[in-house]
Amino acid sequence: MLLSITTTHQPATDLGYLLHKNPDRVQTTDMSFGQVNVVYPEAGRDRCTAALLVEVDPVGLVRDRKGPKGNDFSLAQYVNDRPYAASSFLSVAINKVFGTAMTGRSKERPELADLAMPFVVHLPVVPCRGGEAILRRLFEPIGYEVAATTIPLDTQFPQWGDSRYLDVTLTGTCRLRELLEHLFVLLPVLDDDKHYWVGPEEVDKLLRRGGDWLGTHPDRELIARRYLRHDRRLTSDALARLLAEDGDVEDPDEVGAAHDQEEAAVEKPISLNEQRLDAVIDQLSAAGSRRVVDLGCGGGKLVARILRDTKVEHVLGVDVSYRALSAASRRLHLDTMAPRQRERVELVQGALTYRDRRLQGFDAATVVEVIEHLDPPRLGAFERAVFAYARPGRVVVTTPNVEYNVLFETLPTGTLRHRDHRFEWTRAEFAAWAGDVGSRNGYAVEISGIGPEDAEHGSPTQMAVFHR
Ligand code: SAH
Repeated sequence: MLLSITTTHQPATDLGYLLHKNPDRVQTTDMSFGQVNVVYPEAGRDRCTAALLVEVDPVGLVRDRKGPKGNDFSLAQYVNDRPYAASSFLSVAINKVFGTAMTGRSKERPELADLAMPFVVHLPVVPCRGGEAILRRLFEPIGYEVAATTIPLDTQFPQWGDSRYLDVTLTGTCRLRELLEHLFVLLPVLDDDKHYWVGPEEVDKLLRRGGDWLGTHPDRELIARRYLRHDRRLTSDALARLLAEDGDVEDPDEVGAAHDQEEAAVEKPISLNEQRLDAVIDQLSAAGSRRVVDLGCGGGKLVARILRDTKVEHVLGVDVSYRALSAASRRLHLDTMAPRQRERVELVQGALTYRDRRLQGFDAATVVEVIEHLDPPRLGAFERAVFAYARPGRVVVTTPNVEYNVLFETLPTGTLRHRDHRFEWTRAEFAAWAGDVGSRNGYAVEISGIGPEDAEHGSPTQMAVFHR
């Protein structure tokens, strides 16, 4: 199988320094599944191409009992696409041969390693589950122009139709390190048939190589799922850690505050944040809730407010972000809290889209300014985890009312209130969602507005109170 990387950044031969591979000679590395060669078909001042040639030995593979999974038919162990198709073998080879380049280090050209340069990547045979559409979904959001042609099953008999392989060219401008990370992670995702067993260390690998770009990739769930061979536990772990490491916040010490600030800058004139917390607290005390879970607790402001009510026995704060939880822990002074007080509160890391026994047995759950951070296709998972599985007596959900945005002077038309918001709903959209969730799960719903009400556009925040 073959991967070629071409740059026209001049002097183009610097590619050799970046890859830590000398353009003047062929370099061969032995791997458990075969041999990997790095050669330079062209190495001029204007244009330089490095090719990674991976020779997989299918017979050796069978001997080592590392053949592709699910092929019990013995001939298939010998006659398969592994020798030529860009699969996880290529990814393993990239890691082995270009591992140093992927860390972004270059002894001879450190300044170049940090420079975005034009690249063209050619992969003549890419097995692609889901076809060209998936290929585009994976590479276009991270800045590549994608060209692909489907390879016919047999060039002499085009009437036999197309194979599942694509001839792929990716064109983009980025750092070499990023390019290698993208290929390393996404090639096995395209193939969706990793040749080796995956364990927890595979999650570390995914986060190490994808930490900078995967968190904001619209298909991050698909990528994590396929990369981890559809292992549910590993996938949920990876996503939780990925979201926690989301570059959403610049200053790790100011997590809750940073989120508050961006939104607050928009919402400031009315100190909406305070009014929101007041409205939620009012709901909890009216219902006399004693055990409360705050889902997506962020920096812990609401948890602190709930604790002030001495009738409340226990508060659990849950967030996917480790940074948010440490900010919350500092805000609450958990480590110096008096023991009796300390027993009333707990903070745990968790994702709201996965069933979690720790969330069961609460009188009330609060979900304040969180749902708009979920990708819309994940709202169903959120509903099942919270309303069908955890089943608190009451659920208080708040979310922005997008209709009100036109009244925020500092918000450019058509933009949402925070960079990480995946959507903001109109009142009708929120009411429809809440009504459906309520009736599907046996909760009655009341909807109201928080903040000053505009005759035409309503209130800036909308709140749904669900009760069983
Ligand atoms: N409720 C807080 C924070 C709102 S910001 C407040 O009102 O100030 C949204 C929070 O939801 C962030 O802290 C983010 O880490 C968290 N979050 C986003 N997606 C999540 C998920 N899938 N599971 C758990 N928490 C999530």
